[in-house]
Amino acid sequence: MVKGHSAGKGLSDEKVIVVDFGGQYNQLVARRVRECNVYCEIYSYRTDIEQIKAMAPKGIILTGGPNSCYEKNAPTCTKELFELGIPVLGLCYGAQLMMHILGGKVEKALVKEYGKTEVAVDNESLLFKNVPQKTTCWMSHNDYISQIAPGFQISAHTADCPVAAAECSDKKLYAMQFHPEVLHTVEGTKMIHNFVRGVCGCAGSWRMDSFVEESVRYIREKVGDGKVLLALSGGVDSSVAAGLLSRAIGKQLTCVFVDHGLLRKNEGDEVEAVFGSNGDFNLNFIRVNAQERYYDKLAGVTDPESKRKIIGEEFIRVFEEEAKKIGAVDFLAQGTIYPDVVESGLGGESAVIKSHHNVGGLPDYVDFKEIIEPLRDLFKDEVRKAGLELGIPEKLVFRQPFPGPGLGIRIIGEVTAEKVRIVQDADAIYREEVAKARLDRSIGQYFAALTNMRSVGVMGDERTYDYAVALRAVNTVDFMTAESAEVPWEVLQTVMSRIINEVRGVNRVLYDLTSKPPGTIEFE
Ligand code: GLN
Repeated sequence: MVKGHSAGKGLSDEKVIVVDFGGQYNQLVARRVRECNVYCEIYSYRTDIEQIKAMAPKGIILTGGPNSCYEKNAPTCTKELFELGIPVLGLCYGAQLMMHILGGKVEKALVKEYGKTEVAVDNESLLFKNVPQKTTCWMSHNDYISQIAPGFQISAHTADCPVAAAECSDKKLYAMQFHPEVLHTVEGTKMIHNFVRGVCGCAGSWRMDSFVEESVRYIREKVGDGKVLLALSGGVDSSVAAGLLSRAIGKQLTCVFVDHGLLRKNEGDEVEAVFGSNGDFNLNFIRVNAQERYYDKLAGVTDPESKRKIIGEEFIRVFEEEAKKIGAVDFLAQGTIYPDVVESGLGGESAVIKSHHNVGGLPDYVDFKEIIEPLRDLFKDEVRKAGLELGIPEKLVFRQPFPGPGLGIRIIGEVTAEKVRIVQDADAIYREEVAKARLDRSIGQYFAALTNMRSVGVMGDERTYDYAVALRAVNTVDFMTAESAEVPWEVLQTVMSRIINEVRGVNRVLYDLTSKPPGTIEFE
């Protein structure tokens, strides 16, 4: 079973593959490899060995995973994988499995390690080149390698774990109990670099511009003279997808932009300015103003999942109507990026976190032959790099991530046109002040939400009973985890006072301190 790939096979001659055993961080592994300027794709552990051989990867990385490799029916791979002469790096579960298959022993650990752990490097391993002898690594395991496989040598240990790393350098097989892909492993990036560039001998010529070029080539090849339909939301992802497809196939692409009345202030017009007929991109642009339809459908609905559903379904209706006008298309394009894939549980072997607007849904309703998801393997910051590469305006490329259901899930409780106005105005003030303070590039994501709480206040000596606006600002590397940002007090004060003064219907402003997990970045 092949997992998502963006540029497709055969386009990068130098490739490392990641074999997915269900670990939570496996896409981070791929990302670190790309950071070494080496192209990388992820495949399920169920992928046939012949298929792997046919790809002739320069290296193979086995990810972590929740199982214990000595248990019956635990995910596994063939011994042959270690005999191809291709360097293999096993991480955590992957390391344990390597030992287990090659004749070592894995058992339940007496002391489980979880979190930052000091690791002592024991030899001159190529993998630990330029890594200090003592270094902090991220551990997360219940089992341990109690005995290494014949021909292997221990190359690192911790206080509680005799085999933190082992290797058989002759055969270029490497095992690490910790997770170098996680940033808490201080020298992790270096270790992956040492593997990919050092052990595997990759030259590292892959760049984001290569991604764009390769994707353009791939899209042209795949689409031929077919027609492609893309639902453009105006967010970073679908905009970059639009830019990429436009570069590849021009007017064969039609973008349908549905203004559902749950966009940020002025956003509809901004999107039209870039992609519409007066903009710089060669494509067909259709804007549908469906505000009223959405407000009607959402009247009286308070449950978050129902709201999401209604917004999603209404989107499908509107989109379907437009698609009918266009007629049959060959491809439906989606701006799905990797975190969407993971959170929807489609990203391979890891667990489902939540249903996601970007994934699934449309396919049943539109007459098309195939889906095309050119950004499926990229993280947000990589998508942005690709966007700049494509000449998409910076304002759009660095725009805040924005959920498909839009303000619908930033308004807690019932959505009305009036509440949309409140949250739009409050959010516009917040964004304006953050930009004025020059924090707009340094904060990962920030927005205003409208709580469903009304409280008593006093304005102009009169009692008020109005809504509370919540301000959210988070810092995050990959949007999978996040911490609330320390927005300077003066900025918050200014935002608060402007919102109270300028936005009718608000008498209180709150700041949300919650990190993710346990919170999500959005409110509903
Ligand atoms: N399930 C294995 C263990 O507990 C591997 C864990 C992992 O890959 N993070 O040791």
